[in-house]
Amino acid sequence: MSLNDLNSPQSYQIETTHQTLETDWLIICAGLGSTPLINELQPMVNIKPVLGQAIQIKLNDILGDMNFQPVITGEDIHIAPINSQEYWIGATLEFPDEMGKVTAQIELLEQAKKQAFSFCPELEKGEIVYTWSGKRPRPDGEPAPIIKEVPNHTNLLLATGHYRNGILLAPATALIIKDKIIENGIDF
Ligand SMILES: Cc1cc2nc3c(=O)[nH]c(=O)nc-3n(C[C@H](O)[C@H](O)[C@H](O)COP(=O)(O)OP(=O)(O)OC[C@H]3O[C@@H](n4cnc5c(N)ncnc54)[C@H](O)[C@@H]3O)c2cc1C
Repeated sequence: MSLNDLNSPQSYQIETTHQTLETDWLIICAGLGSTPLINELQPMVNIKPVLGQAIQIKLNDILGDMNFQPVITGEDIHIAPINSQEYWIGATLEFPDEMGKVTAQIELLEQAKKQAFSFCPELEKGEIVYTWSGKRPRPDGEPAPIIKEVPNHTNLLLATGHYRNGILLAPATALIIKDKIIENGIDF
């Protein structure tokens, strides 16, 4: 996808692989993809990847009280129940090199696993059924998230760079963006 500022007061063109769309309002929420999209119009952000690896463990038996399965956190490692026999363990924090590249390091996942087993030894008996990694969009040089207007461009907003809390903050982000649009006279 690429963007064109049509130089009209409030119009943007979005070129996708399938079609070209025109819109009065544009909200850029493309995570790591936000940097090239917005910087072409207005150099203003640098969002870098911080990789996270996690595993899903399945046990043969129910662990603890099946009616009380809390999320357990220790030393920034979380054990999150999926159901009474399956748990997520994660996640690693892996920063990019000088070139901005980051690749998953198996030893960091091993370390995270060991930490989780140290405060919940029963998990060690389980089978790893899934290993997963993703890249968190972390703003460089400013706090996360980035929710703001783009200078010199009407009706263009950024809602990006949520780093470690994009799922948690999605509803709050949507409300802030909605308020910003309403402030400009559009009603929902
Ligand atoms: C291991 C791990 C565990 C996590 N745990 C939690 C947690 O417990 N709680 C929590 O709140 N957060 C958690 N996060 C962080 C959370 O996943 C991110 O903050 C969140 O995904 C950011 O959402 P986003 O929509 O801004 O970006 P993304 O999820 O990165 O989505 C951006 C989307 O934009 C698309 N895109 C990019 N460029 C373009 C383009 N040019 N054109 C069109 N589309 C484009 C991408 O394909 C992608 O679909 C975790 C992350 C990881 C990796």
